[in-house]
Amino acid sequence: MSGILENSPNYKLNKTVLDKFLSLPQPENKVQATYIWIDGTGEGIRAKTRTLDFVPKSVSELPIWNYDGSSTYQSEGSNSDTYLYPVAMYNDPFQRGNNKLIMCDTYKYNHQPTETNHRAACLEAMTKAAAQKPWFGIEQEYTLLDMEGRPFGWPRNGFPGPQGPYYCGVGANKVYARDVVEAHYRACLYAGINISGTNAEVMPSQWEFQVGPCEGIEIGDQLWVARYLLHRVAEEFGVVVTLDPKPMEGDWNGAGAHCNFSTKTMREENGIIEIEKAIDKLSKQHIRHIKAYDPKEGKDNERRLTGKHETSTIHDFSAGVANRTASIRIPRGCAEEKKGYLEDRRPASNCDPYSVANVIVRTVCLNE
Ligand code: ADP
Ligand code: MN
Ligand code: MN
Ligand code: MN
Ligand code: MN
Repeated sequence: MSGILENSPNYKLNKTVLDKFLSLPQPENKVQATYIWIDGTGEGIRAKTRTLDFVPKSVSELPIWNYDGSSTYQSEGSNSDTYLYPVAMYNDPFQRGNNKLIMCDTYKYNHQPTETNHRAACLEAMTKAAAQKPWFGIEQEYTLLDMEGRPFGWPRNGFPGPQGPYYCGVGANKVYARDVVEAHYRACLYAGINISGTNAEVMPSQWEFQVGPCEGIEIGDQLWVARYLLHRVAEEFGVVVTLDPKPMEGDWNGAGAHCNFSTKTMREENGIIEIEKAIDKLSKQHIRHIKAYDPKEGKDNERRLTGKHETSTIHDFSAGVANRTASIRIPRGCAEEKKGYLEDRRPASNCDPYSVANVIVRTVCLNE
């Protein structure tokens, strides 16, 4: 097997040396705050750290900060200061103690949202729809790669055996780099992310974790920080995470970000009627949704939503109970109980959850 860890500079560093310094006492009034944001690609994550001289209790106490937007595909060099507005705060599982992770959204020199700040519009929709109590649970699929860009653990020249034994697999010949998955799970719990589970996926070296249910805007804040934690944990192992929705061509499953959705009425007795109404509204806005479900307005999902490998075709809308080849699936349990939630299976793994949640709420709750 080609772990190719010998090619990974980060892996080669001796982590016990770092421990000597991380265990140094930290002055009580000095807190490391790592500000996290989405760059101009709409899928890349950036982060930088500053010292605060107080222990923040809420996001409102955190200073606005800035960065060089010309180095993140977000502005011209001549007018490059881009603002970071703190929106959510989590415990930092790497630095521990009072140290914090700060999710931010980004604003241009004139305080207008940057092109890839999809949180602003999402927050507006969530505020309007707040009384309907929209809940989201996103299943984040991802693929681990080695430093040469090959799925982690795959033979350098050749392929693993065909798909079948790997989904929820156990054993050294079924799953690769479970260490990353376990570390990430605990890191999310420590941070305060509402992570609800994890499983090995159908393609070897492909995994999933779920975040939710989260109400309103929190689904975006939490999923982005969970993605940050995943990249950051994998960095320590010398493994690369890709959210590409179809990392391997051929008879290999792609990666999605199924979005499970409900409103208060859907969760109550006979909520199935409301779920069916929602599906009817979604059926009339298929193209609008496909455009919001990956960062390239459907181009990325074209490679994934082929109608094969447990997907629907990108060209048509469909819905069904327990149907994994439909755009929308009503989970069997919800159909039986006549209430619960629906699963939109279309979002790509590299979608912006703010865009996904935004368009679902606008179509279903706000009738836009
Ligand atoms: P699947 O069976 O499609 O693999 P998972 O168990 O991976 O589903 O994920 C289901 C997701 O749905 C979880 O994130 C869970 O928190 C979320 N969820 C459960 N109930 C609701 C609900 N009422 N509204 C929205 N999301 C929900
Ligand atoms: Mn500088
Ligand atoms: Mn799942
Ligand atoms: Mn899955
Ligand atoms: Mn699913």
